[in-house]
Amino acid sequence: MAKVNKNPLILVIEDEAPIRRFLKMSLLDHGFAFSEASTGKEGLSKVASERPDLVILDLGLPDTDGLEVTRQVREWSNVPIIVLSAREKENDKVEALDAGADDYLVKPFGIGELMARLRVALRHANRLSDDQLDSNFSFGDIHIDFAKRQVLRNAEEIHLTPIEYKLLNTLVRYSGKVVTHKHLLRETWGGEYSDETQYLRVYMAQLRKKLELDPAQPKYLITEPGVGYRLKID
Ligand code: CA
Repeated sequence: MAKVNKNPLILVIEDEAPIRRFLKMSLLDHGFAFSEASTGKEGLSKVASERPDLVILDLGLPDTDGLEVTRQVREWSNVPIIVLSAREKENDKVEALDAGADDYLVKPFGIGELMARLRVALRHANRLSDDQLDSNFSFGDIHIDFAKRQVLRNAEEIHLTPIEYKLLNTLVRYSGKVVTHKHLLRETWGGEYSDETQYLRVYMAQLRKKLELDPAQPKYLITEPGVGYRLKID
């Protein structure tokens, strides 16, 4: 079902009217179509009836919370979901990401940040539906050839251990998006290791040493405190 020449429809599920207004203005201004809901229940029904291209979902809703909305949507839809969380509710956003949300923004957020996250989430959604994953990927001066399992800097091979390669591979597949600790551990070591976040710290430090010009101030392998890691692109 290709949507051609149509502005992507963004559904905002948020009970605070001023934030809905701010989002409406910003989204219309950037060429998106806009729809809104002020409760979880109304939101769920609009996801089903309007088939938005992306959902912006507040985690603190008056009826069902955003976490539950995420779970219910994921039972039948892959629509990208960006959750909005309040700063004091750190755990909620991690749970939402593990329940299938694509990314998160902490209130208050800037419009530049929102648009960057939207673009990444929509790009991933399009790529998934087109089912075309590239066999090559580059960031900074690093080039990855997945077919050969090779990582290069200026044509010179960087040797990665199998674990480091898996970790990098997962971050690349979700490039631009945050990947939670649990998700990374599951994909790299398997489900039984999903609480061993210290593994990640060790291996991310090694990856940075090999891939970042200044490992102490990484430009690409970014820590999302309390949440996970993100491979920053663009
Ligand atoms: Ca709220």
